[in-house]
Amino acid sequence: MRVLVVEDEKTLAQQLKERLEGDGMVVDLAVDGREGLYYGEEYDYDVAVVDLGLPELDGVSLIERLRRGERRYPILILTARDSWQDKVGGLEAGADDYLAKPFHYEELLARLRALVRRASGFASPVLRLGSIELDTVAKEVKVGGGRIDLTAYEYNLLEYLMLHPNKVVSKTELTEHLYAQDFERDSNVIEVFVGRLRRKLDPDGELRPIATIRGQGYRLATE
Ligand code: CA
Repeated sequence: MRVLVVEDEKTLAQQLKERLEGDGMVVDLAVDGREGLYYGEEYDYDVAVVDLGLPELDGVSLIERLRRGERRYPILILTARDSWQDKVGGLEAGADDYLAKPFHYEELLARLRALVRRASGFASPVLRLGSIELDTVAKEVKVGGGRIDLTAYEYNLLEYLMLHPNKVVSKTELTEHLYAQDFERDSNVIEVFVGRLRRKLDPDGELRPIATIRGQGYRLATE
């Protein structure tokens, strides 16, 4: 999952980046509203965290501009005070959820996960497609009721495909959403991970849950 964090408090921003990365996310950090607008328009995110009190361009204006530019990913706002006016202003600008500072990281993480799965149409934290069951809280995967062991990369790949069922997902999209910019962007790496994931999901080659769409990418089919 790729997350945009727009936060000008450097210590908090750095802590958020490290913890979100520790939870398997790719994080882009912007330290003011203008930088946030650049990232937010340039890249596609799964979710964004936007502090409302920002230098250069305030959080509400940033969100308004992203929404005017048809950026549809969910946005969670951070408000410095427990002020209802801030929350209302942010939500009316196009944000989807809010958290007042100070907050517990675990609450932020739970809210971000909920926003992402809701945006993909899942209400339950356990994603089910055909015989595959992915528990986004326990980070466990079952196929036909039996648990399978995945590495962190394989898990993140499967989670991304399950959040976009029946959609052709290109290798570029997978690379951008699953790997940090300093990662070696070699499409062969994605092929290797997809190959391993396929063998673990479907050792007998009967179900073929992940189809290769030649020249376009991969598609996880619901049946
Ligand atoms: Ca601030």
